[in-house]
Amino acid sequence: MSTSRPPISFEFFPAKTPEGAARLRTTCQQLAQFRPEFFSVTFGAGGSTQDGTLAAVLDIRNAGHAAAPHLSCIGATREGIRALVQNYKEHGIRHIVALRGDIPSGMVEMGDFRYANELVSFLRAEFGDWFHIEVAAYPEFHPQAPSAEADIRNFVNKVNAGANAAITQYFFNADAYFRFVDAVTARGVSIPVVPGIMPIQNFSQLARFSEMCGAEIPRWLRLRLQAMGDDVASIRAFGLDVVTELCDRLLSNGAPGLHFYTLNSAGAVSTICQRLGY
Ligand SMILES: Cc1cc2nc3c(=O)[nH]c(=O)nc-3n(C[C@H](O)[C@H](O)[C@H](O)COP(=O)(O)OP(=O)(O)OC[C@H]3O[C@@H](n4cnc5c(N)ncnc54)[C@H](O)[C@@H]3O)c2cc1C
Repeated sequence: MSTSRPPISFEFFPAKTPEGAARLRTTCQQLAQFRPEFFSVTFGAGGSTQDGTLAAVLDIRNAGHAAAPHLSCIGATREGIRALVQNYKEHGIRHIVALRGDIPSGMVEMGDFRYANELVSFLRAEFGDWFHIEVAAYPEFHPQAPSAEADIRNFVNKVNAGANAAITQYFFNADAYFRFVDAVTARGVSIPVVPGIMPIQNFSQLARFSEMCGAEIPRWLRLRLQAMGDDVASIRAFGLDVVTELCDRLLSNGAPGLHFYTLNSAGAVSTICQRLGY
């Protein structure tokens, strides 16, 4: 691999079974050849267990790689977060992706944190500079944001609370990313805002995710994918071309790195990384 390429990172969700954990170790081993800066592991997202995050992070580290747990604060107490993060610290973990998390339907008790900026402030107040803190960014704006301007302002507040870097929600429109970076740079943000990249493998799954998280599948892309119906091979081949071109354009125009949503599978992400010269 070329050592001059911008850093990349890979995201996993915790496995639910011992077989899943074994598969994840293999995936991690396959992706390690691209020398990622780190692997991250989601927390409580999509029904995954929260204990699984630490187990997966330790597994990745035992295999000799850098790993960062995600941490969401919605519904949590200060004491709960302090104890969990202290445990991470005692395991020598120094890198966290700090999030609010999605509000579960019917949730009445919000807990001690309303937004991710409050979690970032809490982590800095309690643990100083021990952790490298990543936060989430939304080039196409968070689905609950009242306006683009409010979302940008809230992102800047979150950075000013002490974030070291940001990872974006996935998107297929590079202009949305560059406009977002321009807007936050104009407001004084100088931390890296790393594009989150979602490989295209399955149209109905992608459409479902995108509906939930507010990522837009552009009309031209949706129609092309829909026309392929159940032809998985064509969807994958086309998806690889589209996503590799997106990554190439992002890197050529100054994106500071790439963060891949692997969905715990090495295939498509490996092909994209190879094509990009990693
Ligand atoms: C890279 C990445 C990784 C993720 N990993 C996980 C994971 O592991 N587990 C998981 O459960 N979810 C995860 N998510 C999803 C994330 O938790 C959801 O998108 C969630 O709805 C928002 O989290 P946030 O940290 O961006 O929230 P925030 O930054 O708090 O923003 C949430 C909303 O509140 C608004 N807001 C922020 N501050 C204020 C304020 N002071 N006043 C009024 N409004 C405000 C924002 O504009 C936005 O609309 C991830 C998302 C990304 C992009």
